[in-house]
Amino acid sequence: MDALGDGTKRCCDEDDESPSRKRSKVQVDHNTNVANHYNRLQETGLAARSQSRIFFMRNFNNWMKSVLIGETVEKLRGRRLSVLDLGCGKGGDLLKWRKGGIDHLVCVDIAGVSVEQCRSRYEDMRKRSHRDESMFSAQFITADCTKELLANNLDQPDLKFDICSCQFVYHYSFESEAKADMMLRNACERLKPGGFFIGTTPDAYELVKRLEASDSLSFGNDVYRVTFDGKGNYPLFGCQYHFNLEQVVDVPEFLVYFPLMEHMASRYGMRLVTKQRFSEFYQEKVKLSHHRNLMMKMLSLEEFPGEHSEGPPSEDQDEYRHAREHCDRAGNAGIRLGTLSRSEWEATSIYLVFIFQKMS
Ligand code: SAH
Repeated sequence: MDALGDGTKRCCDEDDESPSRKRSKVQVDHNTNVANHYNRLQETGLAARSQSRIFFMRNFNNWMKSVLIGETVEKLRGRRLSVLDLGCGKGGDLLKWRKGGIDHLVCVDIAGVSVEQCRSRYEDMRKRSHRDESMFSAQFITADCTKELLANNLDQPDLKFDICSCQFVYHYSFESEAKADMMLRNACERLKPGGFFIGTTPDAYELVKRLEASDSLSFGNDVYRVTFDGKGNYPLFGCQYHFNLEQVVDVPEFLVYFPLMEHMASRYGMRLVTKQRFSEFYQEKVKLSHHRNLMMKMLSLEEFPGEHSEGPPSEDQDEYRHAREHCDRAGNAGIRLGTLSRSEWEATSIYLVFIFQKMS
């Protein structure tokens, strides 16, 4: 790894249930559990977020999504764009769609509280834009996309999409073939020819590689921990693991074996355009100055040397050893660079970016 890194994902909140109680409930109704989990998450203010050990990783992930969304919108420039945000959460990508100048957005999530927060964020944005004509219209739907056909819930029943964006969501569907297929159908079936299905999801190869290298059923660091139920046997569907971020027990997720997802997507006329690990995507995109400028604006990397890396050697110092070595190699005492802590990088480098395009 170079001195630079990235990061991902969902917010975290208190979870008063023990993992074992949680697991037995999961077997009863996994999807209800997912909805409850995300509904319970509080919206944390910027001040609290900036105290978090994953502050830069979150920003980095946001930058990754901004680049992915921005470049996809750019490919379709000149058309009136309708977008489906599948698993929209609290609307963290609303501003990205606004910047992209789209015309219509449909936001869907299984967690009703999140959908309402997304809706009110959108309403605020609308008010602030003083009813600017260019502000996109939007519809908000609470639905389990692994069980229901979205088309039945659309205000405009014959609406077709130019883009479906599915950020940090698709892995929840790989519990069973029927669920994974329904989510894929919702993502792809209503895409126009030439339209894109884009997203981010954990890389099964990376997860299994780290699991196999571990002495136990678990691996991670202070920032994240992944725990599997077993080793050596990885079913194509329902291969469950638990992902903890910042010590908070998260809901179970499922391995997404990408070649299988690709095969399933081909049934909906989808061709894989790009599949890149976060590290690869980052290294390619950071070369472009407009992406780099956005990265600075979004505080997606921590300045080094900086607050955490100065002073006597400590645990923190180990977290930034890669950056220190990079500076030493450069042989210039005055050099400053952008980085993520080792722990943040290890957490975020699990993920991959995908882009599919609808052929017919
Ligand atoms: N895309 C957002 C949120 C990611 S968190 C972002 O990038 O910030 C994952 C989201 O997936 C949660 O909001 C969760 O409620 C949603 N989700 C999980 N399973 C789902 C399902 N079956 N149908 C719809 N949404 C689902």
